[in-house]
Order: sequence, then C-alpha cells, then structure tokens
Amino acid sequence: MRLPHFEYVAPRTLDEACSLLAMAPGEASPLAGGTDLLVKMKQRRSIPRYVINLKTISGMDYITYDESDGLRIGALATIQSLKNSITVKRHCRILAQAAGVESSVQIRNVATLGGNIANASPAADAPLALIALGTSLVLARSGGQREVLLEDFFVGPGKTVLQPGEIIREIRVPPLSPRTGGAYLKHAMRRTDIAIVSVAVVLTLDGDLCNGVKIGLGSVALTAFRTRKAEGLLTGKKITEELADVAAQAAVQESRPIDDIRGYAEYRGKTILGITKQAIMQALQDARLGGI
Ligand SMILES: Cc1cc2nc3c(=O)[nH]c(=O)nc-3n(C[C@H](O)[C@H](O)[C@H](O)COP(=O)(O)OP(=O)(O)OC[C@H]3O[C@@H](n4cnc5c(N)ncnc54)[C@H](O)[C@@H]3O)c2cc1C
Repeated sequence: MRLPHFEYVAPRTLDEACSLLAMAPGEASPLAGGTDLLVKMKQRRSIPRYVINLKTISGMDYITYDESDGLRIGALATIQSLKNSITVKRHCRILAQAAGVESSVQIRNVATLGGNIANASPAADAPLALIALGTSLVLARSGGQREVLLEDFFVGPGKTVLQPGEIIREIRVPPLSPRTGGAYLKHAMRRTDIAIVSVAVVLTLDGDLCNGVKIGLGSVALTAFRTRKAEGLLTGKKITEELADVAAQAAVQESRPIDDIRGYAEYRGKTILGITKQAIMQALQDARLGGI
C-alpha cells in the first residue's frame, strides 16, 4: 500500500518543530520512528497534510540518571536503546524488561519511546511499566513547556492530553526508594506480539510490610491505568499469596476488557487474575532480594 500525498518538513530544533505543529493544528503529525504513523497513513487511518520529522533534531535520544532527578530519557531514545541500556537495567529494570518484549529488533531499532507513548495504545509495553514507575512527561511547546503525570496523559485509545503544537520532549522517572522491586508481565500469542493482557507492578518494602505499590494494567480498558483498589489492599500489609489473590480480584473488577481480534473479554478477565497475582509475588520477591 502506498503512502498518501504529504509535505515533508525537517526542522532542526524542537522549538521550530513545535511552531510548525502549532501553525497547522489537526493537519500536521510529528514523525519519529514511523512504526505506528506510517502504518496508519498507509491504511488511511491518518492522512496528515504535513509530516514533521523529529529525528532531524539532534540531542533528543539521551538516557541519563542521577540520584536526585532519577532517570531522564529523551523522547527520541529508541526502544532497543532502553532494552540495552546499563543505566536503565541498573535503576529501572522493569522498563528494560518491557522494552525487551516489544515487537522485533528491527522495529525496536527505529521505534522511539516518545512515539510509543504518544501513540496511546492501551496495549503498549514500555508506557505501562512507566506508569507503575510514577513517570511524568515534559511536553514542549514553542517558548515553553509543562509537566504531566503519565497516568493522566492518556484519555482514550489514540487520544492524549497533548495540545496542538506540543511535543513530548522528555520522560522523567523519579528515583526509587531502597527495597523497591518490580515485575512486568505480558500475555500475548508470542512473547513479542501485541499484549492481550499486561501488568506492571512496582512495590516497596519496609521490613515485612508493603510500604507502597503501583500496579498498572494494559489492554483491559480504553487506556492503560493504575488499579487503585488492588494497590490499597496491599499497602501497609504483609503480602501473602492469599492477599495477592484478593488484590488480583480487585484488579479484575476495576478492568473493562473488550472482545477484539486478540482475545475475548471473558478470557482477558481470567488472565488478569492470574498474571496480576504472579506479578505481585514476583515484585515482592524482587524487593526482598534488594530490588531495582
Ligand atoms: C509490527 C509491529 C509490532 C509492534 N509491536 C509492539 C509491541 O509489541 N509493543 C508496543 O508497545 N508497541 C508495538 N508496536 C507499536 C510501535 O512500534 C510503538 O508504539 C513505537 O514505539 C512507536 O514509536 P515510533 O517512534 O515509531 O512512533 P511514530 O510512528 O513515529 O509516531 C507514533 C505517533 O506518535 C506521534 N509522535 C511521535 N513522537 C512524538 C513526540 N515526541 N511527541 C508527540 N507526538 C509524537 C506521531 O505523530 C504518531 O501519532 C508495534 C508496531 C509494529 C508495526
């Protein structure tokens, strides 16, 4: 299938890219790796008049860490670079795990984290791990920027709070407390297929007690989301298999799965129960062993 006609623009700075986007609201799309955008254009699900290539802007693919700021990732960092990064593996292992089960190496080599987030698929992998890590996004616009929590960024499938002229500039993961463990589990036809159900758990221990936990669920509602009831059931308690089971049941109740080509809603509900419990127990074990 051929791409529809469009005008290609290659800005040199982020500010220039934001200005161009703002000048043509609804008619211009940023292009990063193109693994979502070009497919949608070929299928005529998106027909932008202007395609603004972000990859001509240098210095937006960094991955850095420091004790006070935590992990900072430029929006153009590729999914493969997250999978391979020693920094990510050392400070946020579940992000490297989630990146590692995204598609094939060919896709990961060009696909960016910013594109993965902006595409707003409820089945996306790295964004779900980032929700459980308490991540925020820096959204740049011409002459300014704002910061939003990633869990507040998604408003529906393919829909976000991005305003015309805004571009995701940076992904910020706060530093994690000692004895924080994590787990990312994806249930799919094959390991690197699009998720049928996915779960990310990040859990901190204080002695034997759960001092805080974030549980993100993917592919079981219109957006990826945190299951607050399940989190509330675990917080302040000593986690046992039985308690993890009760929390997983709460996660099922909070989900709104649908039937689609990858699975039936009923199947998804049953799967959430199993993998949420498994992810809680894995994150607990990880925290006991010293964690992320
Ligand atoms: C065969 C195949 C398999 C896949 N498997 C998986 C999988 O297993 N898991 C998974 O999570 N994803 C998967 N994907 C989806 C895709 O690869 C990811 O979502 C990818 O990270 C998108 O990044 P990109 O740089 O290619 O985005 P692009 O396609 O360039 O852009 C995606 C969208 O985001 C916008 N955009 C891009 N960058 C920015 C920015 N910085 N700020 C604002 N808007 C921006 C674009 O305008 C577009 O609307 C798969 C895709 C394909 C084709």
